[in-house]
Amino acid sequence: MTPLSLLIRRKIEAEGPISVADYMALALAHPEFGYYMRLRSEEHDPIGREGDFVTSPEISQVFGELLGAWLITAWRSMGAPRPIHLAELGPGRGTLLADVWRAVTAIAPDFADALDLHLVETSASLRARQRTTLAALPTPPSHRWHELLDDLPPGPLLLVANEFLDALPVEQYVADAGIWRQREVALDSARDGFHFALGDAVDPIRRPDLADLPEAQDGTLAERCPEAERLVTRLAARLVVDGGIALFIDYGPTRSGVGETLQAIRAHRRTHPLVDAGNVDLSHHVDFERLAKIAVAARGRPWGPIPQGLFFGRLGIAERARTLEAASPARADAIRGAIRRLVHPGRMGLLFKVLAIGHPAQPAPPGFAADGSALPTSP
Ligand code: SAH
Repeated sequence: MTPLSLLIRRKIEAEGPISVADYMALALAHPEFGYYMRLRSEEHDPIGREGDFVTSPEISQVFGELLGAWLITAWRSMGAPRPIHLAELGPGRGTLLADVWRAVTAIAPDFADALDLHLVETSASLRARQRTTLAALPTPPSHRWHELLDDLPPGPLLLVANEFLDALPVEQYVADAGIWRQREVALDSARDGFHFALGDAVDPIRRPDLADLPEAQDGTLAERCPEAERLVTRLAARLVVDGGIALFIDYGPTRSGVGETLQAIRAHRRTHPLVDAGNVDLSHHVDFERLAKIAVAARGRPWGPIPQGLFFGRLGIAERARTLEAASPARADAIRGAIRRLVHPGRMGLLFKVLAIGHPAQPAPPGFAADGSALPTSP
């Protein structure tokens, strides 16, 4: 057992089984032993080829460059307010922000000048990594860190978050004789590991957000991510008042559905989510349709979700790739391979989705069709 597994075992011994969301929160964010909190730089980075998983900004600089161009257009369509806050949620190694910064300083110095950069990051070790990445830029931007989205100063806001929502704790429910019951994590009989167990029936009075769990056959599993829902509610409300737009990129279906998506990854392989707490990455698919409806309920305007391949295709990823290939022919194969990984439907192009949430008066942001959302505009 890892030190964190022992700690969770003691908690369950003292208080009884815990929810899947509480287990996930401890496994990722326990201040000392959580997966993202540990001083992993001594061992290895979680993100990257040597680590446990590779994210899009780590695959190709083009990802951040095109998002930089997207941000410039979004800013101009807002009337180019100055200053403009640009925040990233969960910046990982800081690669995306560095690529965005390189692109915008090159093509839109007026935008770069107006930018006030914010990194929302809870992990001290990843903050240190982000500092190093940004400091290595030719003209390093000034920037600030925050624990929470709510800590950002008021004012017009551009926000990006890649593979952030999937790391927020997910709750699971199991349909049992016509009622939904919370799925919990309990000690197994030998007390040296954990297993899933069924907890209390959900109370739709105490948890009105669960009242719309669908009717389902016994044994069906459903997931909800209340933290993502609260975040989108507050963000949309803020964008309506202060102006701006947010872009979320993550994996998940286009339509809400049921079924288990909680997964554990270690060194690029799937493992059991309840084993080796603190040493494996836990994540889940993002329910974009639900988040888009929540944005509408908070008076925001969702765009998408649309597949990552389609979005970056519309932003001109093929043209950008050709320019890079022409500039460094020796790397042409590597560049083409990286782009393919980002946009091919069999790789990240279809499973990954892009959802924008903006002020209701915001014109169609680049990459989203002018007729707007694929979703109804009322909940
Ligand atoms: N966006 C990066 C990293 C994704 S990993 C990339 O694409 O490479 C998830 C990131 O979110 C990490 O930086 C992690 O420390 C951060 N994170 C996870 N939960 C968080 C929370 N509740 N608040 C702030 N940051 C969080």
